Amino acid sequence: MNDIDEKLRPILASVLHRNAGEGEFHQAVHEVLESLGRVVAKHPHFLDLALIERICEPERQIIFRIPWIDDRGQVQINRGFRVQFNSALGPYKGGMRFHPSVNIGIIKFLGFEQTFKNALTGMPIGGGKGGSDFDPKGRSEAEVMRFCQSMMTELHRHLGEFTDVPAGDIGVGGREIGYMFGQFKRLTNRYEAGVITGKALAYGGSQARTEATGYGNTYFVQAMLETRGTGFDGKRVVVSGAGNVAIYTIEKVQSFGGRVVACSDSSGHVIDEDGIDLALLKEIKEGRRQRIAEYARARGPRVHFVAAGRSSIWEVPCEVAMPSATQNEVSGKAARALVQNGVQAVGEGANMPCTPEAIRHFREAGVLFAPGKAANAGGVATSALEMQQNASRDSWTFEQTEARLAAIMRSIHDTCATTADEYGAPGDYVLGANIAGFVRVAEAMRMLGVI
Ligand code: NDP
Repeated sequence: MNDIDEKLRPILASVLHRNAGEGEFHQAVHEVLESLGRVVAKHPHFLDLALIERICEPERQIIFRIPWIDDRGQVQINRGFRVQFNSALGPYKGGMRFHPSVNIGIIKFLGFEQTFKNALTGMPIGGGKGGSDFDPKGRSEAEVMRFCQSMMTELHRHLGEFTDVPAGDIGVGGREIGYMFGQFKRLTNRYEAGVITGKALAYGGSQARTEATGYGNTYFVQAMLETRGTGFDGKRVVVSGAGNVAIYTIEKVQSFGGRVVACSDSSGHVIDEDGIDLALLKEIKEGRRQRIAEYARARGPRVHFVAAGRSSIWEVPCEVAMPSATQNEVSGKAARALVQNGVQAVGEGANMPCTPEAIRHFREAGVLFAPGKAANAGGVATSALEMQQNASRDSWTFEQTEARLAAIMRSIHDTCATTADEYGAPGDYVLGANIAGFVRVAEAMRMLGVI
């Protein structure tokens, strides 16, 4: 706790005590409190009004049973979660994650991060997150649909375009959003398009939402590189994951002239020195839903597949690293390898993919480091644009929407950079993002009274 201001230590101690066993949540709170010492020195009223304690406590946590019947006629039980973290700036907003690792601590860490991320976008959205320990891998289309319908049968009573608006995350893409929205509509008899985002274009989705998180992270990293007079053009880039965020990161990096030489899934990674063939990757991951080894097989002998556990994707030399799979995927050891191989910039596409030790290495080595709550905010920002289009019964072109996304990412970058300057830590995007996000939420809460 030595890295935390003395006045904030009792707050962290209380969070650890009251949320026992929730390691990822502890880690996320710790990281934000580390940045807030300089804020309370300047604005002691945040302490007097217990604003930090209040921000660390979710407004509401819902845990529920999801029973459903598999293709063999067996009853299956999963656990559903929705954590409505903070609604000072707008309705709760944040995705749903379907993965066997999901538990309340993971959903709380994600909801906590989401609150500050959403504040950084400057849009009227509060923070929330949800999901289930359901594993969609190996499940049939009909099983996924029955599961989504059962989840929404309980969840719908907690949602609404002015209350709580979910979206996708790991394991939840356009297919799952469609099934959840279909069941919501059926249960409520309302075509309330703004109740969920990440919808397909055919029924109220937004152009560029699918691409937004990966594109947004790329815009953010490009802006960081520009502060050192450079850009993606000609750089070697490694992107972990091969899901929504990774695929559209690769697409944008390539359009900026970067060469993405490796990507992964949970079974391992592939190294393609000629640059990832994105059309093939999309066909394998989005179309056929196959494992990443299939990419190497289809590309031929020049492409290597390395099974998970044999060596890390972060040992592949690169100038820019964009972790886009899951939390804590970049360890201290991985960060050391990246630094030794000359990495210049790291942009977190995933939520909290770098461990605290990894972040420390990057900072000490002077690597440009973009924290997820700033760098991957393009997804939720475009979800808010989807809500705007739904509210006005309008739809914008891809170009219009992407231009808004690019402007939002530039503004988040500049907000983080100027806040870091203002608080005496130039170039520290972690501090800038934590402080700017916190101050926006805390100021709104202060004005709303003790709620
Ligand atoms: P997807 O489910 O589309 O893809 C996730 C990818 O990461 C897959 O390739 C998956 O491999 C891999 N992965 C997931 N869990 C693990 C694990 N435990 N170990 C190794 N690999 C893993 O999810 P998204 O692309 O949507 O999300 C990726 C990250 O980005 C998450 O941290 C998410 O919270 C964050 N994010 C997503 C946003 C969005 O708009 N989608 C917005 C902001 C942040 P496999 O298929 O083998 O499991």
